[in-house]
Amino acid sequence: MSHFFNKMKQGVTDVSKKAQNTVEAATLKIQITSKEKEIDKNYSAIGRIIHQSVARKESTIPIADIQKFQKIILNLEQEMELMQRKIQQIQSQKECGCGKMLPADATYCPFCGQQFHVVKVRTVPTSGQGSSSNTQHVNSSRHCTQCGSSVMSTDHFCKTCGHQL
Ligand SMILES: [Zn+2]
Ligand SMILES: [Zn+2]
Repeated sequence: MSHFFNKMKQGVTDVSKKAQNTVEAATLKIQITSKEKEIDKNYSAIGRIIHQSVARKESTIPIADIQKFQKIILNLEQEMELMQRKIQQIQSQKECGCGKMLPADATYCPFCGQQFHVVKVRTVPTSGQGSSSNTQHVNSSRHCTQCGSSVMSTDHFCKTCGHQL
């Protein structure tokens, strides 16, 4: 047990990771803003094409030209979505005493086994270990032998029940 406390003490001094994440989230937000501006530029380009086409009294709108800009917009929107998801991921993490970043809903640290006081009530499958696998949709092939929760291959402890893996 003293092994855990030593590890926790080490972790307390390692606060740089959290600061790093804050910086990363801020950087991503700036990148998202610049993507929004790029999207606006492409919308303007589409507007200009339509405007010129109408001004020239053309009977057809140059769809191919518009699609070119539309494709760029869709790509930018996809990139923005990925960045937003990454920010959510960063912000939904909590830091363990051992210095590792964990998902906010983790009850136990998968690295050092420390327990967190999570208020959320979680239903743990009690009827055997095999039956729980159908409720898991996380992309992990390993499961806790005690509660059946999916665990990362790098985890030393189950983050749901704290069972040593
Ligand atoms: Zn830990
Ligand atoms: Zn477990």
